[in-house]
Amino acid sequence: MTVERGLRWADVDPARPREGMTGPVLPASVLDATPECLFVTGPDGRIVFANRRVQELTGFAPSDLEGASAQLLLPEDLRAEQRGTFESRCHRADGATIAVEVHLGRIEGPEPLVVVTLRDITEGRNAEARIAFLAYHDSLTGLPNRELFEELLAGAIARARRHDLAVAVVVLNLDNFRLVNDSLGHQAGDELLAELAARLRVCTRETDVVARLGGDEFLLLLADLPRGSGPQQDDQPLQISESVGARVHEALREAFLLSGAEFYASASLGISLFPRDSMDAQTLLKNADAAMHHSKRVAAGGSVVFCEDDDDEDDAMERLSLSTRLRRAVESQHWVLHYQPIVDLGDCSVMGVESLVRWHDPNGGIVPPGEFIPLAEEMGLIDAIGDWVVDEMTSQHRIWCDEGLDLQVSFNLSPRQLSSPDLARHILGKLQAGRIDPSRVMVEITESTAMADPDRTQTILTELRSWGLTLAIDDFGTGYSSFARLKHMPVQVLKIDRSFVHDVNRDRDLAGMVRAMIQLAQSLGMTPLAEGVETRAEYEFLHANGCRLAQGYLFSRPVPPDQIAALARGRLLPDSG
Ligand code: C2E
Ligand code: CA
Ligand code: CA
Repeated sequence: MTVERGLRWADVDPARPREGMTGPVLPASVLDATPECLFVTGPDGRIVFANRRVQELTGFAPSDLEGASAQLLLPEDLRAEQRGTFESRCHRADGATIAVEVHLGRIEGPEPLVVVTLRDITEGRNAEARIAFLAYHDSLTGLPNRELFEELLAGAIARARRHDLAVAVVVLNLDNFRLVNDSLGHQAGDELLAELAARLRVCTRETDVVARLGGDEFLLLLADLPRGSGPQQDDQPLQISESVGARVHEALREAFLLSGAEFYASASLGISLFPRDSMDAQTLLKNADAAMHHSKRVAAGGSVVFCEDDDDEDDAMERLSLSTRLRRAVESQHWVLHYQPIVDLGDCSVMGVESLVRWHDPNGGIVPPGEFIPLAEEMGLIDAIGDWVVDEMTSQHRIWCDEGLDLQVSFNLSPRQLSSPDLARHILGKLQAGRIDPSRVMVEITESTAMADPDRTQTILTELRSWGLTLAIDDFGTGYSSFARLKHMPVQVLKIDRSFVHDVNRDRDLAGMVRAMIQLAQSLGMTPLAEGVETRAEYEFLHANGCRLAQGYLFSRPVPPDQIAALARGRLLPDSG
């Protein structure tokens, strides 16, 4: 580059005269010809000259720039800038910014000038970002790799320590990946892994990390999980990780389309929790891995929660996670149905029974429904359980009828069951197959379920009603019913939630509410039924205030069917002494 010194701008380039400008100058034609992108600023920080390359880079014409402050292009105040070379962001005429390397050359004199050279480093930046991304991500699936996972895990553990939270690590390994690679080829194997990655992203929460370790092994990180207090403080994080695991198994149930062929994959999961199982990242990963291998041995396609001495096979079943055991329970129908008498408060006779399901876990004893119904709903298993309940209840009703006992039987419907469009027909089909008169059957739907989608509920209830079934709103008082809605629901029984009944004889507020609920039921032509009656005083209050029906430990707990006949033949209340 030729630099001619001692010339004025006007002398070199008559097209761009600069009045009163003295000092060293460069001929514009020369500067336009260089491959460098450069402009010159005067003592006031304004641009006195910009070459053609600046226009190419920024989109500003020299006439836009000359006379304008250099801060139109760069955020720095170049007059004060001490650095000779630095990286910055250059503003373009279209509003975008680009990464540039800036070089400043000072020309001292009575009117000092600064020659600013710009170099576009966006390309390099992008390449660097790409390289950084590749270093931390798996190229096949785009998921974080082991390194990034470990960094994120370390961060999650640090947060959990500070805020008393829990962290779950889940290791996932496909059960039949070799089969794909061997029979369908590597291309199909890659397709499977990419599709699996996509499904894992969908079935986890936004904040969960899904990473690929390599091969067919994936990791999930569930961070910032709330903990409870007391000895059960890890129940909640356990439940959350179990339900994520359940969702993963669920997401795998659909066939994978690999090179045009359908393929069914299953995976084994191992779960370990901070701080429950370990306080450090490496041990957590090791534990989750051990649990995953454990699952492979005893329950491929299931989940196992880590447990100390995990290589001990004796109580293998006990270590299967709740979701895995639940799935097995559905397959082998490990259910029992207990029945709780519903009592007519007029004469304390048994007018019917409510069916309440229990899980007979061969290793865990009798599990109450509160502990597995929510998970079963989430896993999509509730329909199978609900079907079993109706079948079992109808055949039990037959047995009672044969013994000369014609009780009304009721069963509970869960929210998820209500989303099936032909639920009413489905139930009716079962009742017909079991040869039970629909008018002897009552269906219970909780208030919050009924009000969640009142139009759909009303349609289903109306159809059930038209077949002659009795309908009840369960847990009344715990949801938010609109009076107008309630009025139009074809419901005959209002079950007052037991939280209102407990101590109703002692608490004046409760007493007022329960009286109001009884009156509400009566004014809507419904029969009030009080749940959870435990004391004689509660019973007397309810009876005195016009409540027709009741259930509760005072009369009987839910019992196996063979105890019902004896209960139903007597009166369920000892005479007051
Ligand atoms: P729910 O329908 O409100 O059932 C009444 C629950 O109250 C039962 O608990 C029963 O044992 C309990 N209970 C009855 N009397 C008393 C009492 O005097 N005091 C106290 N403290 N509790 C009493 P359970 O059997 O544990 O059932 C809990 C819930 O599980 C049921 O609440 C129901 O929502 C659900 N569930 C039970 N069986 C089924 C089923 O077959 N299908 C569906 N979808 N849900 C069911
Ligand atoms: Ca109920
Ligand atoms: Ca209830």
